[in-house]
Amino acid sequence: MVTAGKPTLAPFAADESSGKGRVYAEPPAQYRGEYQRDRDRIIHSTAFRRLMYKTQVFVNHEGDLYRTRLTHSLEVAQIARTVAAALQLNEPLVEAISLAHDLGHTPFGHAGQDMLNACMQDHGGFEHNLQSLRVVDELEQRYADFPGLNLTFETREGILKHCSARNARELGELGRRFVERRQPGLEAQIADLADAIAYNNHDVDDGLRAGLLTLDQLREQTLFGDQYDAVVARYPELDDRRLIYEIIRRMIGRVVTDLIDNTRRQLGEFQPRSIEDVRQQAKPIVRFSDGVFEQHSQLKQFLNRNLYRHDKVRVMTDRSKETVRELFERYMREPAEMAADFSQPASAGDCNESRKARIVADYIAGMTDRFAIAEHERLARR
Ligand code: MG
Repeated sequence: MVTAGKPTLAPFAADESSGKGRVYAEPPAQYRGEYQRDRDRIIHSTAFRRLMYKTQVFVNHEGDLYRTRLTHSLEVAQIARTVAAALQLNEPLVEAISLAHDLGHTPFGHAGQDMLNACMQDHGGFEHNLQSLRVVDELEQRYADFPGLNLTFETREGILKHCSARNARELGELGRRFVERRQPGLEAQIADLADAIAYNNHDVDDGLRAGLLTLDQLREQTLFGDQYDAVVARYPELDDRRLIYEIIRRMIGRVVTDLIDNTRRQLGEFQPRSIEDVRQQAKPIVRFSDGVFEQHSQLKQFLNRNLYRHDKVRVMTDRSKETVRELFERYMREPAEMAADFSQPASAGDCNESRKARIVADYIAGMTDRFAIAEHERLARR
């Protein structure tokens, strides 16, 4: 019998009863499903709370009105759940993946990550997706019976969106799809695109409010321009603030609806009978239509040129990179300056340079923007 309120899953959805389980076997929870339990562990993690003080585009202390990685992650989860529910896919799983997808991000967004990767060049590099997995598999230490959060395979599969083939080979079954160029389950594919939808839209909003983008510039982007024309035609008197919100909510509606409709078409075409059929595909099943994909990519490129590389953002980005580089070099020379959990293993007699560099990278990656700035100032005074 179907329990009231419990949605029926499509045969190609991830299903915990046939899932690949956890690395450390655990008895089932009494009142929650396994993916709900994953989500709850993610919400209770330290790394999740710190997302509140990490940058998406703007450095956290530059203004309280902009997205942080926490609000970004919540928006990703909202979009992903809508898509998953519409396609009878596993909603708790997409939520868990969405909330965890940015846990490995360094302070200062991509600037921080690029610099940390450069610093780690001779020590295996730094990839934020792999770091998100490291956070949930190893770095969070809060349960008596196992290291990390001991999440299910399907949640971990979704967290690891991208991975170099070299690193993937060391991850066993979880990394295999990057070597064989196969796909993850549909829930992971949805979370991936929900991420892109969320940032495209909220960065337009943040960019406009920061005064770095103008309405005139954006009207030239089809995705924005179409909605602009429709809203202005219907509400000619609307003030700019509400105009922008109304456009953005319609833009999100437009791409999300397209994603659902087109993915439904794709499912009809490929007829997967199970999650394994989905994983065997060479290309993702969850996709926009060609037209919307084009518009979505156009907007992404526009933001790349005009927001992420805006002079004002760049000044901040350059400063952030310096902060990360100097922190890295300083901790490598003086590991005792790190917090005890990190300084102790890094100062141990048998700790080689690469091991030490990984500990330093873990420490820096875990910092919030403002902690990194405060720590940088503290060390500069010494
Ligand atoms: Mg993201």
